[in-house]
Amino acid sequence: MGLRGILCIYSFALGACVASFLNVVIYRVPRGESVVSPPSHCPKCAAPIKWYQNIPVLSYLALRGKCANCRAAISPRYILVELLGGALFLAAFMFWADAPGGNFCVRAVSLLVWWIWISLMIAGSFIDFDHQLLPDFVTVGGMVLGLAYRAFTGASAGNFDFSDPVTYLPLAHSIAGLATGFGLLWLVRWAGSKAFKREAMGMGDVFLMGAVGALFGPAAALVTLILSSLFGSVAGIAMVALAKTRLGGFTPIPYGPYICLGCLVAMFRGPQLVDWYLNLFTARI
Ligand SMILES: [Zn+2]
Repeated sequence: MGLRGILCIYSFALGACVASFLNVVIYRVPRGESVVSPPSHCPKCAAPIKWYQNIPVLSYLALRGKCANCRAAISPRYILVELLGGALFLAAFMFWADAPGGNFCVRAVSLLVWWIWISLMIAGSFIDFDHQLLPDFVTVGGMVLGLAYRAFTGASAGNFDFSDPVTYLPLAHSIAGLATGFGLLWLVRWAGSKAFKREAMGMGDVFLMGAVGALFGPAAALVTLILSSLFGSVAGIAMVALAKTRLGGFTPIPYGPYICLGCLVAMFRGPQLVDWYLNLFTARI
């Protein structure tokens, strides 16, 4: 196995370990509990979880999803979040390892930023599913990360290509993205509250879209908005069909996870998606 294979395994393992910690964040942060103390324990019998029982993915499989002490079932969501973290960290590594152009430093920092943002999106999505809220460390954190990232890549790339505004003015690109993402969803929220005569969406979703724009620019914010409303509608219709929620009822459907899903597609396949869409029209001319 070459160096690339070793780095692929390392990326997956790192993602699974980070996601293992995110499981703690997802459970404890909305409840106002510390993420470091007390150490992990079984919620049923309070037996402490030893280090070798806390290895991501593997421990869950070895214990067959049960507490080693009292045999109480552990939610399969723990292993699913760990697998998701591993898979997304691996995909991000492969994306940046194969990315054409860009110097090593910019690509390494880009990968780090993607890993951090993927972690924030996993935490935000599951907290939103459970509590219908998006914490500030995800939304405001994402905006700060995006602005810092663009300021750095602008400074370090040294590639002031006047024909490409993204490399010429990276920080302006980031600010324009923030304004686009935040502004568009703020308008949707405003129109929704007028149409339904009640709050249709939380401000957390608006801040989250601002973060997507700050990180990936105005075009990615637009692609994310379109995809997330598509994913959200499909999920909403499916939930109504399964009678889990009533249309027009007061069961809130979290929007954050669909923004994150749309953002992931925009991150990995955004330019191809825009090309494909534009080709639909140019092919007929
Ligand atoms: Zn137990």
